[in-house]
This record gives sequence, C-alpha cells and structure tokens, in this order.
Amino acid sequence: MTDTHKASLEYARMMDANDSIHSYRSRFHMPTQKDGTPYIYMCGNSLGLQPKSTADAIGQELHDWKMLGVEGHFHAKNPWMPYHEFLTEAMARVVGAKPEEVVVMNTLTVNLHLMMVSFYRPKGTRNKIVIEADAFPSDKYAAESQIRFHGLNPKDCLIELKARQGEVCLRHEDIQAVIEEQGDEIALIMLGNTNYYTGQYFDMKKISEWGHAKGCMVGFDCAHGAGNIPLELHDSGCDFAVWCNYKYLNSGPGGMGGAFVHERHQNDPNIPRFEGWWGHNKETRFKMRDAFEPMPTTEAWQLSNPPILAMVAVWSSLRIFDEVGMQQLRKKAISLTGYMESLVQSLGEDVVDIITPSNPDERGSQLSIRVKNADKALFDRITEKGVIADWREPDVIRVAPVPMYNSYEDVYLFYEALREEI
Ligand SMILES: *Cc1c(COP(=O)(O)O)cnc(C)c1O
Repeated sequence: MTDTHKASLEYARMMDANDSIHSYRSRFHMPTQKDGTPYIYMCGNSLGLQPKSTADAIGQELHDWKMLGVEGHFHAKNPWMPYHEFLTEAMARVVGAKPEEVVVMNTLTVNLHLMMVSFYRPKGTRNKIVIEADAFPSDKYAAESQIRFHGLNPKDCLIELKARQGEVCLRHEDIQAVIEEQGDEIALIMLGNTNYYTGQYFDMKKISEWGHAKGCMVGFDCAHGAGNIPLELHDSGCDFAVWCNYKYLNSGPGGMGGAFVHERHQNDPNIPRFEGWWGHNKETRFKMRDAFEPMPTTEAWQLSNPPILAMVAVWSSLRIFDEVGMQQLRKKAISLTGYMESLVQSLGEDVVDIITPSNPDERGSQLSIRVKNADKALFDRITEKGVIADWREPDVIRVAPVPMYNSYEDVYLFYEALREEI
C-alpha cells in the first residue's frame, strides 16, 4: 500500500526537484494538445520523443548535400563515407558491447533475418527455433519464414514458450527445462529480451549459458531493452542481438536498427552471410574486386551505404544517452517505475492487476496494467484526458514512464486520470 502522501502532486513535484536528471526532459519536444497543454506521454516504448537537437542535425546534412553534392561523402562536416562509424562507440555503450561487435544498420526485422541467415543453420534433427508464444508478430513471421526458407515446416520446427496456466510471464526454470529436454533438437533460441507485452526482462546470460551447454545458438531481440535496461550484451555471451532505435532510443519513426554479433564469431570464414559492398573491407571497397573480403567486425553484415538522413537522428539521440549514461537512467527508471507501480496498486487488487513482474530486476520502464472488467472505452476516456498510452486487447494498458524525459509529475497525472475513470 502507498502512503497517502505519495499520491499527491506535491510529492511528485518534490521528487522531480530532487531528480538529478530531470533537466533532460527539456531536451525533448513534448507532444502537445490543440490548446497547447502537453500530453501525458507514456508511450516511449513505442515511439520515443524527438530530441530538440535532431532537426538541426538533419539540417546540417541537408545543407552539406545542397552545397557539396557527392563531395559530401568526403567533405561534409560529418563525412558520409565513414558515417556509421561515428555512432558505433556510443551505441556500444548503450547496449554493453565492444565497438567491434555492434553496427547501426537497416531496421529491426531486416537485421533479424540477416542474423538468422548466419545463426539459424538447421542440420539434421537439430532444426528448431525457440521463441515466446506471445512473441512480437514480426519476430514470429521472421522465424517461421526462415524455417520455410530451409524447406522445413514451422509446425515441426517452432517451439513456443508458453506461460503456465493462469500465469502471464514465463518462468526462467521453465525456459531452462525446455532447453534441457529438447536442446539437442534446437538450432536457435531467439527471445525478446524484454517482452513487448508483459514488460518481462529475461536473464540473457543464463539463457545463453543454458543454450550453449546444449550446442544451440542464442540470439535476442532487444527492441524493448535497448536504451531501457543496461544490457551487457558482450558479457551475456549471446551470439547475436538486434534492436530498433526508435523506441527508448528516440531516433524517429521507422528509424534505423542495430545489430550485435559476439566477437567469437568475427572472422569466422565459415559463417554464412548475405553480403553487400558495405560489409567489404573498407580499404579496398571501391576497387570493386571480385572476391568479397569481409570487414573483421559486425560491420561485415552491412549491405548498403547507410541512409544518412536516418542515421543522423540516431546519432543525435545517442549523444544525449552518452551524456546521461545508462546507469543514471536505470537508477531513475527503477524509482519512477516503482512510483507508478505503488500508485496503480493503491487502486486495489480487485480493480487492477499489474502483469509486469514486480521484481525491478525483471523489468524495465514499462508496466502492463490489466484493468478488471475494462474495455477500450475506459482507455479512450483516459486518452481524452490527455494520456498517450497503448491499449492491447482485451484488457491491458501498457505504459512506459521513460526516465530520460518523463517526470514523477507525469506519473502522478497518469494515475489521477486512471483513478478518475475507473
Ligand atoms: C517494435 C518491435 C518490432 C518492430 O520491427 P520493425 O522491423 O522495426 O518494424 C519487432 N519486434 C519487436 C519485439 C518489437 O518490439
């Protein structure tokens, strides 16, 4: 139960006054209603807000293109030729990897396919992919189509991890049991590291260890983890990871994705890969020689020269992440999400049920709130009160108090809107 004093605007404002990273809110455009009042934006897990610095950064590239044309590849303020390299170190810091292990490229589902080309290699009876039963649809389509691409049948080759009867989140011990019992038939374990629906965060290190002990490849879709939770991808030991940068990483609608390949797979001449010129050794890329000579890093998976106007938005956001750092964000996230949890819970167990794990180590900045006997009309009424959140049929409201720009006051105002409409 919440102390009643916490359920007040004064308390929320006091928390904001004591929040050492509160000022970062002013670095972002807050969407506003027609009358000029800001929305209570709780949807940073779907589309992060626009950094105020992004327009100028894009303007710089438009200017250089205007003034320099093709010469911009070498003479732009930020030359386009090595452009992706400008992003790599900051991206690596956000996801906890070595710079050689990450690259910003393509979009998420594209990268997932490229990674599965390399890391889903069915052989004999080891031909299955493990995913969550409630995986994000795109991930499921990608996995099923990869299975069919190898001439196999998803009915036989997809193992879906289901929560126990009456439960919503998966238990790690159940994931472990599936790997132990069926590991010899599993080619690839591919989970969302933070489930998009429940907000549950999986222990990537343990799952990688269990999988590797059975000879499986292990990859993660970090769409809901990147920029949300410090991921430690390198130390997790997973084989690959992919993510998008437009959710917690604020890089704009349909913005570029990222990919991680563990260093143990770099320079493996036997790894199958779909190849393109941007994956070729950059020293000799323009000699247009016959044989593909891969970059010695995850850059080898790049296909095309990157879209600069989309890359620039990722870079502009990563600069802010570099200033704040994932540790500070995580510290505030635990407090801010905890505050929201305590307020929502005070509405009573007979009214709301938070399906996201209550252990802060098993979640990031999202709460999925099941409202008993609710339908979409309730959600629509909250929306009318200026809350932007996400509704999942039949009865779940997903909200993300994002530590980068959401305030304790936002959280309080969301709670007020919910309370009034319930
Ligand atoms: C957001 C999200 C996607 C979206 O894929 P795109 O290729 O960027 O359109 C895919 N998978 C998961 C788990 C997501 O959360």
